[in-house]
Amino acid sequence: ILSELKELEKLKVVSEIAASISHEVRNPLTVTKGFLQLLQDHSLSQEKKEFYIKLSLEELERAEVIISDYLTFAKPSLENIELLEINKELQYVLKVITPYATMKDVHIEFERSDEAFIAGEKQKLHQSLINIAKNGIEAMLESGTLTFSVKKLEGTVSISITDDGIGMSEDQIRRLGTPYYSTKTTGTGLGTMVSFSIIKAMRGEIFIQSQSGHGTTFNISIPLVTKEETIQQ
Ligand code: ADP
Ligand code: MG
Repeated sequence: ILSELKELEKLKVVSEIAASISHEVRNPLTVTKGFLQLLQDHSLSQEKKEFYIKLSLEELERAEVIISDYLTFAKPSLENIELLEINKELQYVLKVITPYATMKDVHIEFERSDEAFIAGEKQKLHQSLINIAKNGIEAMLESGTLTFSVKKLEGTVSISITDDGIGMSEDQIRRLGTPYYSTKTTGTGLGTMVSFSIIKAMRGEIFIQSQSGHGTTFNISIPLVTKEETIQQ
């Protein structure tokens, strides 16, 4: 019963967050709708028109970012659990974030491990790692290196994502993962919340080491699936 209650509690949190996200997305849509209505006025000056269009695009972009940070979290399901080879999935994550890293002048390194299998949902694993990697890239204001390292340990696989960016204070680390906590002008404060809840759902753990001005390491450890379990699948 206790575990059922916990599940219910989790669902309640998810639906509360879902409600507040839909509110966050509805705002920019309402604002954009208003601007489009104003644009129907043919006597508007070119300058005004451009101004309304610019604001509309900014609002839509905001809605897009909110949805992309939240996307997979909004659909909790246990149906898609499969056996995942962690190096292969990381390779995919690297492919997805490389254009963003290149744009920000960030170099990416990848230290692989031997084949290591975990059980989880592919898309969610991707999303949680992408959110953490994106933060790492955004923490490096000029240029830098984002290092992914995988280590196969006794019973778990350890994935670390290290940046040499601005780092965080103790207080900032404590606030990580709480909804809407962001220090960025256009941040959503949803990325880490989504990442943490996905990793927890995979029975994983997260350790954060950070030093202001020097950089941050997110260390994620996830239980390995044993050979016997692999054969059973
Ligand atoms: P957002 O990226 O939209 O601000 P997140 O939930 O992804 O929201 O991150 C919350 C906050 O945590 C960020 O605004 C930033 O202050 C801090 N943070 C997360 N990762 C890092 C990192 N690698 N280095 C420095 N600060 C970070
Ligand atoms: Mg983020």
